[in-house]
Amino acid sequence: MELTEEQQKKLQEKLKNLSPEQMQELIKQQCIFCKIISGEIPAKKVLETNNTIAFLDINPANPGHVIVVPKAHHQILPQIPDSEILDLFNSVKKIASAAFEAVDAKGVNILQNNGPAAGQEVPHVHVHVIPRFDEDNFSFTWEPKKLKEEQFDEIQKRILSKIPSSMEKIETALEEKGEVKPRLP
Ligand SMILES: [Zn+2]
Repeated sequence: MELTEEQQKKLQEKLKNLSPEQMQELIKQQCIFCKIISGEIPAKKVLETNNTIAFLDINPANPGHVIVVPKAHHQILPQIPDSEILDLFNSVKKIASAAFEAVDAKGVNILQNNGPAAGQEVPHVHVHVIPRFDEDNFSFTWEPKKLKEEQFDEIQKRILSKIPSSMEKIETALEEKGEVKPRLP
């Protein structure tokens, strides 16, 4: 259905006036995984817990390819509250083992994409569990990027600065090895 210019303007005005909660509700109404969770769209479910469901991927990379999702609509992994992460990854672990055995696989890949640049197609956090077979023509190999020692050091420093709880532990270990100068008292 094409909207007239007038209708588009009205729609944009309406969207601008939505509260964050209303906006979240609207996003949920459009989300294919939320529709699977609510039962509006059928899916071949293979696991359900209080916070998580898992179902067969309709476009599987291999037989036994399962998608595991939190029931709450979060777009990317960092948005999931810590209290829901354990349930999600417990489910991933269960599915990895069950799918592996169900299709008599030789290995399993766990794949979790965040953002379009990473190949995320549905904006609702999901974890792919992909059983693997010898020579199944599916590859995760890449051409390694060449980084200098200083670049590794800089990246390590920047990541650590975002995680203060491990910064101290790791810096202390490096000081003990004499790899960084002791911090001032
Ligand atoms: Zn959703």
